[in-house]
Formats: sequence, structure tokens, C-alpha cells
Amino acid sequence: MKALVTTGHGDADVRDWPSPTAHGDQVAVRPLLVGMCGTDLELIDGSIDPAYVRYPLVLGHEWVGQLVNDVEGVGVAGRRVVVEGIIPCGECPACRRGATNLCATYDEIGFTRPGAMAELITAPRSLVHQLDDAVALEDAVLAEPMAVVWRALTRLPLRENLSVAVIGDGTIALLAAYLAATLAPADVTIIGRREAQRALAKRTGATNFVLEAPATRFDLVIEAAGTVASVHTAIEHCARGGSVILLGLPPHGSGVEIAPDDIVNNDVIVQGSFSYTRDAFADVVAHLNARQWQPSFLLTHRYSLDTAQAAVTALRTNELDVVRGKVVVEIAP
Ligand SMILES: [Zn+2]
Ligand SMILES: [Zn+2]
Repeated sequence: MKALVTTGHGDADVRDWPSPTAHGDQVAVRPLLVGMCGTDLELIDGSIDPAYVRYPLVLGHEWVGQLVNDVEGVGVAGRRVVVEGIIPCGECPACRRGATNLCATYDEIGFTRPGAMAELITAPRSLVHQLDDAVALEDAVLAEPMAVVWRALTRLPLRENLSVAVIGDGTIALLAAYLAATLAPADVTIIGRREAQRALAKRTGATNFVLEAPATRFDLVIEAAGTVASVHTAIEHCARGGSVILLGLPPHGSGVEIAPDDIVNNDVIVQGSFSYTRDAFADVVAHLNARQWQPSFLLTHRYSLDTAQAAVTALRTNELDVVRGKVVVEIAP
């Protein structure tokens, strides 16, 4: 079969790759639409912590596919599915308390095992979720990044009517603004980085899109730009009694100067969030199947598997005046 493969030396190419065979509790799935993100670039560039990757690697951790065969309890052949990427052991203390994102044995599709940027993939049956026929592939392909955002948003008990700020204008930031609507917020301000993203950002339902942080403070600040400066901005713009959620990933080893007495005096919660739990993923699937979440408007770039290298280029190019939401690759049957 064909697959988009990287060895972590700055390149990824479409090449022949052995087709996997499903045995034991594995299910064969044919990927249909696969999203790419900044993490794929880190995998390609080899800049990710070696503990979290195994090369050579078939990319693809954000995807929707269809069952190759009838699978009891999951669906019939052709049924569209999304699959959790993190494969928890189910037995370690973290797994047993539901924190499957912190499983003692890290194993994830598209990181430590082959991803979905290929004509066929196998996955543990228990992680496969069926989709209703009415769910658009373009919505479902965002299940994984939505699960990342949803886990972060649901970790804290957040009240309604908050003023919310989202820092960043990449897909995770825009999904955070979109899903923040579930909190019934007073307003949502996206503090973006590029004017070209304005129209796309407004489609999330955000109240405001600004390029500079306003002088006001917010009850909830979601940091999704992943720079040291934006983390600083996030903490500085949190109102008394408010919360900061850190979703972006600044370079490893970087530091931020903070005034801890402000955090204490202002009664602020600063919360990190890593990936997603099984519960968060299942919630996302339920919302997709109920057609409550339809974020397909975020898709701006679409390629075929044969031209997947162009998708990588599109992701890498940071042109100020180009609108960029989610970059996806369609795997032709
Ligand atoms: Zn991703
Ligand atoms: Zn575990």
C-alpha cells in the first residue's frame, strides 16, 4: 500500500509500505480523511521527545475512516468510524482512575505505531467508535483535536457567563473558541496573530478577533499559541478568581517570568492539559453523532495522498496573508 512516511530528518514522502494485518482484537480500517497539524511537523523534523515516537513512522493521528469488514459490536463493513489515538494499557494506576492520557505505557497511533496517512490501518477494537451516517467526514476528521480541547475545557468546573479569551489563531485555538460556546460564555475574544485569520476566526462564533491583547482581564484565558510570550500574556490577562488553561506547547526547556504573588492574590488557577482521556473522546463522538458540533468550516486545505508532500509544505509555510485552518489529506479508495 501507499503511505506518507517520515524518518524524522525533515522530510516525509509517499512510499510503498507493508499493509498491516488485523489479528487478535485488532480491527482493519481504511482511512478516508486525515488531518495534519504542527505536531506532524515536529515528528517530521525529529524535534519531538524520542520517548514519544518510533521511526520510520507512518504519519496521521487525526482521522476518520471506514471499517473494512463487519466487526461485531462496532459496525458493518463500510461503516464510518473514528478511532482514539492513545492506546492505554487499562491497568496502571492512571488508567484505573480514568486518566488514560497519563497511562504509564505511552503508545499512540501516528507516534509510536503507524498512523492513518495510509491506505490501511489496524487499531484495537475497543478504541473504535462508529459514526452516524449523517456525520460529515469533514466534521469527524476534527474529532482528535476536539478531544484535546474538550478534555482541557471539562477538567475544571467552569461556570456560565464567563468572559473568555483564546490566544492563538491556529486550529486548536479556533476549536477552543468554537467549543467555548458550550460554556454559555458572556463573550469570547480571540487574540490572534494574523489578520488573514479574522474571517475564519469569526466563524467559530467568537465575539471579537483582535491582534493585540486588550487592557482588560478575562475570567478564562485559553493559551493555544504555544509561545513563551503568549503564556505570559495568558497569565497577565486572567481576572481575579479566573482560570488559565495552557494548551499550547512552548519549546522544551523555555521559561516564563511570572509574579507568583499575583497568582495567589488573584486566586487564579493555572492548568495544563495533555492530550485527551477516553471519556473526552467518547464525549466528542457523542456530540458529533448528535450533530451538535460541526467544525468543518475550519478545513482550508485539501490534498490527495499522492500530493501529501504539498500538504506538509502548506503546513510549514507561514505566509502572513494566507488563511489557514485545518490541512487535510484525502485517501482515495
Ligand atoms: Zn494533531
Ligand atoms: Zn495505563
